[in-house]
Amino acid sequence: MNDYTLPFNEEKIREIEKTFKTPFYLYDEKGIVQCVEKIKEAFSWNKGFKEYFAVKATPNPAILKILHSLGCGLDCASSTELMLAQKIGVTGCEIMFSSNDTPKEDYILAKKVGAIINLDDCSHIDFLAQNAGIPETVCFRYNPGTDFIVQNDIMGQLKQSKFGMTKKQLLESVKKLSKMGAKKFGVHAMLASCALNEDYYPTLAKELFSLALEIKKEAGIALSFVNLSGGIGIPYKPEETAVDILKIGKKVEEVYKNIIEANGMELSIFTEMGRFVTGPYGYLVSTVLHEKSTYKNYLGLDASACDLMRPAIYGAYHHITLLGKEDAPKDTMYDVTGSLCENNDKFAVDRMLPKAQIGDIAVIHDAGAHGYSMGYNYNGKLKCAELLLEKDGNVKIIRRAQKPEDYFATLDIYPEFRK
Ligand SMILES: *Cc1c(COP(=O)(O)O)cnc(C)c1O
Repeated sequence: MNDYTLPFNEEKIREIEKTFKTPFYLYDEKGIVQCVEKIKEAFSWNKGFKEYFAVKATPNPAILKILHSLGCGLDCASSTELMLAQKIGVTGCEIMFSSNDTPKEDYILAKKVGAIINLDDCSHIDFLAQNAGIPETVCFRYNPGTDFIVQNDIMGQLKQSKFGMTKKQLLESVKKLSKMGAKKFGVHAMLASCALNEDYYPTLAKELFSLALEIKKEAGIALSFVNLSGGIGIPYKPEETAVDILKIGKKVEEVYKNIIEANGMELSIFTEMGRFVTGPYGYLVSTVLHEKSTYKNYLGLDASACDLMRPAIYGAYHHITLLGKEDAPKDTMYDVTGSLCENNDKFAVDRMLPKAQIGDIAVIHDAGAHGYSMGYNYNGKLKCAELLLEKDGNVKIIRRAQKPEDYFATLDIYPEFRK
């Protein structure tokens, strides 16, 4: 069971509000740091372990710097994400470049900064060679092409997945790149998303460790690393339970002993978690602007799907707390909405909440990953600010809210839009 304890109360938000208007994102540094420490502990048995945080989840320099200071690398997927990494001083093998359908400019920059390039397809070898050259270290993204089943649960229909290459292609790619001068190799796969099953990583590890064994036998090449990528889930819904990352680490260790160590091999484990690292530690804080009763009761917030689109596009559940009413009976059913001219702009549908009042603060939980970063500007809505609740309780702005000038920036081709 998820208890949705907040690292702040209404008084704290009322104080923050004096400086920063809602809506804003608020990230809890302490929560993020503790999570990373736990991940490191879970895989401390593996000498070369490294978490490459998936930048797309929370692409804020302040958050990325905290993660880097804890020893994390960054997983980038585009040239702009590479530039973001560069700006905060993360380069070389501290970057995993896991892209697909990659433009040549991106490969050129990835090679230039010395990132570990994760090839999504065998056809990219020549494309990379022609445009950027062959790097010393290369990773290959694997797609087993079967249903990926963990404890009778089909977690991915991989024949439908655009990602990765077949085993045959992968084996040929390793041999080819070795001939072309690459020296170190790794394999990568992400076969599920938001997995709450603690056997996801261990099952994936078994698949990739076995592949490492096959590569050794077939091509005579010992892999340097296996990248388990992201996909570890968080409990969004009240009835869901958080995974125990220490247990997951132990189970991966067992598989490692049975397959890798038993065959006299050694390799580093990498991960690319995003959601698990920042998801639970980011909150979208907003104010109730309007209450409306027609055929249903509606609470209109000052945030919209432009700030957090997961409910609108996936029907995703995000828990909502009305501050100061944590212990009040949830006796009123609401649709909690934003202001977009789209009926799917609803943070919650038929949600039981305490009776709300205009001016109440509504906190939307578990918005720390794939929240702000998915935002957009539909209806001319401007993206909100991001704030950091530091370990000592201080609140710092880490991204300002958009201004109309930002919205008009790409219209500077017209004199009337130039400043
Ligand atoms: C999205 C993504 C991740 C992170 O996924 P989470 O679900 O946030 O853990 C990691 N690696 C790759 C290649 C991705 O596309």
